[in-house]
Formats: sequence, C-alpha cells, structure tokens
Amino acid sequence: MIQNNSSIVELDKNAIANNVDFIRSQIGKGVKLSCVVKANAYGHSIEQMVPELENNGVRHFSVFSSFEAREVYQATRKKSTIMIMGDISNEDLPWVVEKQIECFVYNFHTLKKLVEEGIKQKIKVCIHVELETGMNRHGYSKTDWEELIDYLRKEKDNYILQGLCTHFAGAESSANYKRIQDQQEVFLNGLSVFRDNNLIPQNVHSSCSAAILAYPEFNHDLVRIGILTYGLWPSTEMELTYKIKNKTQKSPLKRVLSWKSRITDISFVESGEFIGYGNSYLAETDMKIASVPVGYGYGFNRSLSNTGRVIVNGVRLSVVGIVNMNMFLIDASNVDVSINDEVIIIGRHGDKSINVKHFGNLSDTLNYELLTRIDKAIPRVIV
Ligand SMILES: *Cc1c(COP(=O)(O)O)cnc(C)c1O
Repeated sequence: MIQNNSSIVELDKNAIANNVDFIRSQIGKGVKLSCVVKANAYGHSIEQMVPELENNGVRHFSVFSSFEAREVYQATRKKSTIMIMGDISNEDLPWVVEKQIECFVYNFHTLKKLVEEGIKQKIKVCIHVELETGMNRHGYSKTDWEELIDYLRKEKDNYILQGLCTHFAGAESSANYKRIQDQQEVFLNGLSVFRDNNLIPQNVHSSCSAAILAYPEFNHDLVRIGILTYGLWPSTEMELTYKIKNKTQKSPLKRVLSWKSRITDISFVESGEFIGYGNSYLAETDMKIASVPVGYGYGFNRSLSNTGRVIVNGVRLSVVGIVNMNMFLIDASNVDVSINDEVIIIGRHGDKSINVKHFGNLSDTLNYELLTRIDKAIPRVIV
C-alpha cells in the first residue's frame, strides 16, 4: 500500500495490555473474549492490532465482512478464530468455508449457500445463528424459527453450530433499559427452543462493550468487545456510571491511539484579512498562522473548521478557517513554533490532551465514526 506520510498514527501497546486486562477483570474467567476489529480495528489497523492483541492472549476476533476476515487471516500469528458478523461476498464464500471462518447466519439465502459450499468441499461450516430479538436489524425472527430448526435438523451433519447469538439495540444508554430486557427474554426463549430441539450451540453470545458493563448477567460464555479494547467508552453515560459505582475519578481505560502530524509552513497575516477559503475567519489582529498537512480527505472532519484544537509544543492551538481536503491552518500567534514541529491531532502531551471524545463533541460525531474515518493509508506504528 502507498503510505500517506503527512501524518502518523501511534498505537500504545501498554494501553492495549491495560484495556484487555480491564475487560477480562469485568467478564471473569469463564467467558471467552472476542475482540471486535471491524472497520480496520476501529481505525487503528487490523494489521497492527491483531498481533498485539494476540500478544495479550486474545485468540478470537470478530469482523463485519469477509474482506476484513482476510485481513485478520493475514495478520494472525497464532491461528486465532475469526468470526464474520455481517457480510460474506460471493467471491469470498469458498475461501470462508475452506478456512473455517465462523459466520453469523441471519437468513436462509446465506445459510443455504454456506451449507452447500461446505458439502461441495466436504467441510463442515461453522455457523453462529443470529436471532432477531428486538433490534430489527439482522437475525431470524420468531416467525422463522420453526422453519430454521427444521432446516438445521435436516442438515445436521453438514455444519457445526458454533454459536447462537443476538445483538442489543443500544446497551450504552439507560433509556434503552426496557428494550434490552425484552431482547434478553426473547433470546433466552430462542435458546431454550433450540435446546429443546437438540440443537446445542457451542457458544451463546449477545454482549458488546456496553452490555458487559451495564448487564454483566447477560454475558453467557462469549462476549464481542470493540470500543473498550481501544480505550474508549461506549458513551459518556457509561463512563460516569462506572466511575460513580466504583467511587473513582480515574478511568480504568487507556487510549490506544494518537494521531500526529507536523507543521509544514508558517505565515503572517495582517489584521483585517480573511484566512483560508471564503470569509469564515477574519484576522482581528496581526496573526501568525501555521499549516498542518491533514484535511478532511484523511479523516479530519470539515466540521472542525474554526473550532478544532491541536497541541503543539505543549500548547493547545485552534484551527482557523475552513478545513481543506489536504490541510488545515492553526493560530500560532502567541507561541514559538517552527516548521517540522510536532502537531498532536489526537493524543496527549504532559497534562494536555485532545481525546477522540473532545474531537467528537466538537464535530458532533460519534467516537466510533471519527476513528474509522482516519485514512487507512496513514501508517500505524506500535509504540
Ligand atoms: C460492533 C459490534 C460489536 C462491538 O461493539 P462495541 O460497542 O464496540 O463493543 C459487537 N457485536 C456486534 C454484532 C457488532 O456489530
């Protein structure tokens, strides 16, 4: 891949170890941890995160697509289990079966194709049957359970029932409490219907990051954890709830990702001039402006125009003018800066930090969304 060296993403391996330990302390010993590394490991990079998580004992990875499954397959050093929770492309289907990649199935279309391909290759496909329990996204609805069970009983020699699963619709907000309880009830009902029909899943799973914190009683024997792995909370509410419950101000999580660039140019602007495209920023005094070679094309949201902040030499500086495709400008009027000085876009310097959440609140975008937008071509390095 051609790398985009105008900035760099650093991944803190101590933070990764810390977060995995924290997750394990929450779920306890009997529960298997699957780290969710979809969307290029939430922007961190599958290539770097998978081996580092393996160094911390993780042997199970969840992805959305067969494309991502191939990336994990390339990255794994320990032959870890790979589970696809979403899409299998037609081209990848034979590969998925051959490599015994585990797959969520949520409709007959995919289930039948997998089973047929398995028969062709004389390999039992590993399936996780997803039940629709109230999110209304993916999964077999109650009305289809009878037909599903008939099919599974008929084909019972042609697959391994690796899991029975569902996904909660918003466990990170207490506003959804009732809906999650109802989902759990439907799920447990489904589980007993399966068991009554002698269909015994190897694993039962429903919980994401928010659910292990808010509903630990729903962990079953496997959990699918994304955002906590990267040291971020599923929501501010979850962070506060955790801190209040544990009577602590300190977060048990450590942020894994920092994003850094450098100053490419410094210029002087006279009072009364507009800065950048259009007239959104008027210099009200004489100003010193520095340019940073990162723009919305690399994931630095355009809505950070005139509002974003970065850290240079330990000082927080403001974005001035509109964020461009490949660069943005910062106000360096009152600080000593030089070309090539480091610019921290996300990360910390001493007691100053710009975290993804701040970045997110300003631009009104979710943690998750911002991270996944950081251009994949920017190099990721473990530090
Ligand atoms: C993304 C995802 C997860 C992980 O969610 P986090 O909130 O990041 O822990 C778990 N399960 C499914 C089905 C998902 O799509």
